[in-house]
Amino acid sequence: MEIRSAREIWDAALGELQVQISRSNYRTWLEKTAGLEYQNDHFVVSVPNTFIAEYLDRNQRSLIEKTLIHLTSSPEIQVAFQVNGRYHNSSNGHTEDPGLLPPALPGATQFNSKYVFDSFIVGDSNRLAYAAAQSVATNPGRIYNPLYIYGGVGLGKTHLLHAIAHLARSRHIQVIYISAEQFTNEFVSAVRQKKMEAFNLRYRQAGMLLIDDIHFISGKKQTEESFFHTFNALHDANRQIVITGDLPPKAITLLDKRLRSRFEWGLVADIQPPDLETRQAILQAKARQKEINITRDVLEFIAGQGQQNIRELEGLLNRVTAFAQLFNSPPTLELATHSIANIGSRESEIDSGTPGLIINAVTHSFNLKPGDLKSSQRDKETSLARRFAMYLLRQENGCSLAQVGALLGNRDPSSVTNACKKLSAELNNNKSLKRRLVEIQKIIKSGTKHLTP
Ligand code: ADP
Ligand code: MG
Repeated sequence: MEIRSAREIWDAALGELQVQISRSNYRTWLEKTAGLEYQNDHFVVSVPNTFIAEYLDRNQRSLIEKTLIHLTSSPEIQVAFQVNGRYHNSSNGHTEDPGLLPPALPGATQFNSKYVFDSFIVGDSNRLAYAAAQSVATNPGRIYNPLYIYGGVGLGKTHLLHAIAHLARSRHIQVIYISAEQFTNEFVSAVRQKKMEAFNLRYRQAGMLLIDDIHFISGKKQTEESFFHTFNALHDANRQIVITGDLPPKAITLLDKRLRSRFEWGLVADIQPPDLETRQAILQAKARQKEINITRDVLEFIAGQGQQNIRELEGLLNRVTAFAQLFNSPPTLELATHSIANIGSRESEIDSGTPGLIINAVTHSFNLKPGDLKSSQRDKETSLARRFAMYLLRQENGCSLAQVGALLGNRDPSSVTNACKKLSAELNNNKSLKRRLVEIQKIIKSGTKHLTP
């Protein structure tokens, strides 16, 4: 199979990298890169600025080279990052200070033109959030204020916020969209530069405030306090506020109690992971949008991978089409199987701690060794522990069926499904198993805290 231009190889590499690193990392560091040149084992990637070049050079080089080696079968391949025509060379010291990058202005965010209501596929899992988003966009400040949307990663929260922004802006409402992280950074620098008044004014004059990923400010007392006052000012003026978070307001830890109760004043709408049917519909829409010719059975196969994060689901579609381009073949079921099959065997670099943590927590609770879960041992206790591990890898880590199978001794995805179903049923009828689940979850949580800085 012949491999062609740098651009095509890099597109295929992006397809792979997208499913291996976290969504936010992918977006920040890789989304705007392109394959430039591939000669004598030197692979040149074009990146938008030195900051990104530096970061990729330092932190992602080995993952990127591994991916390129896999795609090109050239074990000596080396990657270099070129910034808009200039080579980035980490040894020459000529890198821009990231502190000199222009600060983002609030509300100046470029809205993603693809994130509109029309391109949002509605299913049972997101119907309420979608309807509520539409009604606040058309009747701001009048129906539910605030609207609080929560759900897991990659389920469409940001998409809905942008959709609201597009619609409201087209009606000349002055919308500020900001992530809670950016809000925090701006707050901190306003304090430092003694520009609190300007900061407050800017936000309190907004016609509509959309704040994304609010969990980011939880526990940051001063930022919470500042947001509390902004919230009250806007709410009193009947300005629409829409907030997204990964958890319902009640469950956000350490968040100021007053703020938490404010969030519940309006409507709290959740987005659940999409069911199979919705996943298929989403893939179909994405394929149409990208003008990819792909048959229904291949889309069904991709949807059936159990990937519930929609960005990752899209990543799988990209991966299959990139493989098809690379191998100059239509995206057949065979090619799709081939291109997806080996994802699970390579653990993601970023998240690799978590599956290990889950497996350790389970084996600790059952007094087994991790190898036992991967083995073919079928005694009652080991089988039960294995079911717990599968169940938790799916629930806590969002691993795909194929990933879970690969992590636990190359088991078939269908046996993972059966094990998870069996344990769900057992948990419903057996209190002591439920207690066990809680106990293991506690171990995982304490380990997670330990692991995250
Ligand atoms: P979140 O903010 O919840 O982490 P995003 O809004 O960034 O998730 O969504 C991740 C990706 O999935 C985006 O590309 C988005 O367009 C897409 N997406 C999410 N939900 C849907 C949906 N219901 N229909 C179409 N695309 C969706
Ligand atoms: Mg988001």
